[in-house]
Order: sequence, then structure tokens, then C-alpha cells
Amino acid sequence: MTISKIPSEQWAAVVEKTGGPVVYKRIPVKQPGPDEVLINVKFSGVCHTDLHAMMGDWPLATKLPLVGGHEGAGVVVARGDLVKDIEIGDHAGIKWLNGSCLNCSYCNVADEPLCTKAQLSGYTVDGSFQQYAIAKAAHVARIPKECDLEAIAPILCAGITVYKGLKESGAKAGESVAIVGAGGGLGSLACQYAKAMGFKIIAIDAGAEKKDMCMKLGADTFVDFTTSKDLVSEVKAASNDGQGPHAVLLVAVTEKPFQQATQYVRSRGVVVCIGLPADAKLSAPVFDTVIRMINIKGSYVGNRADTAEAIEFYRRGLINAPFKTVGLSQLQDVFKLMKEGKIAGRYVVDTSK
Ligand code: NAD
Ligand code: ZN
Repeated sequence: MTISKIPSEQWAAVVEKTGGPVVYKRIPVKQPGPDEVLINVKFSGVCHTDLHAMMGDWPLATKLPLVGGHEGAGVVVARGDLVKDIEIGDHAGIKWLNGSCLNCSYCNVADEPLCTKAQLSGYTVDGSFQQYAIAKAAHVARIPKECDLEAIAPILCAGITVYKGLKESGAKAGESVAIVGAGGGLGSLACQYAKAMGFKIIAIDAGAEKKDMCMKLGADTFVDFTTSKDLVSEVKAASNDGQGPHAVLLVAVTEKPFQQATQYVRSRGVVVCIGLPADAKLSAPVFDTVIRMINIKGSYVGNRADTAEAIEFYRRGLINAPFKTVGLSQLQDVFKLMKEGKIAGRYVVDTSK
């Protein structure tokens, strides 16, 4: 079913070979399958995952050629015959989880990111760095009409992921949470969700620009990992009682902080791993982990309920992380800045330019 006129060709940013660069070009618009919707993507956030995908950093192959992107906010312009619960003209979001089987032992308990048949936007299927993108209707994010499509785009991966990670940490309001990589895309949103959830925030990242941003977003303390003489002591000292934060949210893109976190988390604390640096390993001394009862866990995006909850925080006006918008044709420049660690907050691309 379709009402608006859908062109047969569109602009897209395409990874033609692993390592990049992305090529801005015209490609065909595809038709949605019976259980899918076609979304006219207006804006898409740029996640570090998109850079990992282009660079082939992970032990999981991408499709090629690949249209990346998984923070796409737009308008539903066509739907398959089986789709009944989303209307043409509704606002919807392409998120990392493009589809899942909805009938395995994981999907049955709403752990759909763990579905072995999950399809990933901008990785195993084409994503939101194009003007018209397809996803399973059951999985697209429902975006309330009152929400700005440009500003909500980063919520569709970064927001959902850090909100889920904070829930997974089990930390309670008033407790301290260290956010490692706080000045980046996920980190800046983590500061806002953590503030809204009532945590005391220790932000860790580098440089004056990211420090200012994190403090404005609600951090109580900022520790600069490039200049700190003793990061472990500084983080502990910034926690409620000097024993270390109750939880650590690792959204950094290098291995070192993953090795460091168990040294400053408090006894019985929880280390939540979210960032996915290439070829990185986790290790911690068994002795300390046991006698201090430290919990180390992974957290991977969020399910449909986490999505709706994360969007509701945004809709209520609780989440206001900074973003900069450029045309989709400039995506390669954004990747360059991202590689250099120069982005405070998030970049969003406008698919009309
Ligand atoms: P980003 O580039 O915007 O931010 C990364 C930040 O980490 C930067 O600000 C950088 O300065 C900081 N950093 C680097 N080394 C650090 C260190 N030693 N200590 C503290 N901070 C350090 O990236 P992003 O888009 O926020 O993504 C972050 C990571 O999360 C990526 O690896 C991405 O693939 C991953 N990710 C995971 C999930 C998931 O579901 N688990 C979802 C989305 C993204
Ligand atoms: Zn992402």
C-alpha cells in the first residue's frame, strides 16, 4: 500500500569495498516485502559502529556493497500487505535491529538482539544512509509526531543502547556511575539518561570541549584520561564514598579502559561493556574479581520495549544531547573526524543534501 509518489532512484552513501571510502551516488529504491515498511529517511545519526562496519573491524562480515546507517528517522511511505499496525505517514525509525525471527527462545522473551537470525541495519542489510530504507514493521521504532526527526535520530541507536546499559548496570538513583567515553555519541547521551535516572556521574574522556559538554549534560566530575596522573584514584575519589562507582558504562573505542575498569569499580560493582573496539580483549585478575565480587557484563542495543522507553524519555524533554547536522554527501568527512576522536556528541546527516 502506498500513497506518496516514490521515486525509482535515490541518493545513498555506499561502502563499495571494506576500508571505504563511502561513495555518494544514485541507487535504486527497493520495494518492501509483505511484513516490511519503506521509510523515507529524513535524518540519520552517524554511529561509530558505521565506521567499524566500513573498516571491517569486527569478526562478522558485512554485506557488500553496503549502505550503512542505523539511526534513521523518517516517514513511512509504503507498507507490505501483512502490515496492519503502522500507517502511511507515520513517523518511524530504522534502528540497528532491522528484523528478527520473533519465534526463537530469545525472541520469545523479548531478547531479540540475541536472535541468531537477526538482521542488522547498515551491516547485514542496507541501512539509513539512503533516502528510502526498509525494515521489518515489527521492529521499526514508533516515533511520536511531536518529536523532531533530526534531534531524535541519535536516540535510535545511541540513546536506546546507553539507556539499556544503565538498566543492565542495576545501579540505583543516587549511586555513582562512571561513563567511559562520555564525550562521544553514546557517552553524551549516557550523561543525559544517567542524569534523568538520578545517578551521580563521573565522566571520562579527553579535552576541554568534551569536558565542557559533559559538565553541561549533567556530569558531576570529569576525568581526562589523557592528562590524569592516576586515573584509578581520581575515579574512586569522585565516587560517593571514595570506594569507587557502583557501575561503569564502557562506551569507549579503545581497549585500555576495558582493562582498567575493574580497578576502580567498587566491590560488588558492575562493569557494563558496550563499546566494541577492534580486536580488543577483556581481562581482570581472578583474585580481585572473586574477593571483591565484581560483575562484568556485556550490553547490546535494546529490545522493542527499551526502544519505546528511551524514546519516551526524549519525548518528555529529558534528553538534550548536542548534535551537528551535515549533508549525507559529507559522510566521509564525518568518518574522518570520528576516526581522529574529534567529535563531541553526535553527527547527524540530512539525506536531502
Ligand atoms: P564515538 O567515537 O562518538 O565516541 C567514543 C569516545 O570514546 C570518544 O569521545 C573518545 O574520545 C572516547 N575514548 C577513546 N579512548 C578512551 C579512553 N581510554 N577513555 C575514555 N574515553 C575514551 O563512538 P560512539 O558512536 O559513541 O560508539 C562507541 C562504541 O560503542 C563503538 O565501538 C560502537 O561500535 C559501540 N556501540 C555498541 C553498541 C552496543 O549495542 N553494544 C551500540 C552502539 C555502539
Ligand atoms: Zn550504533
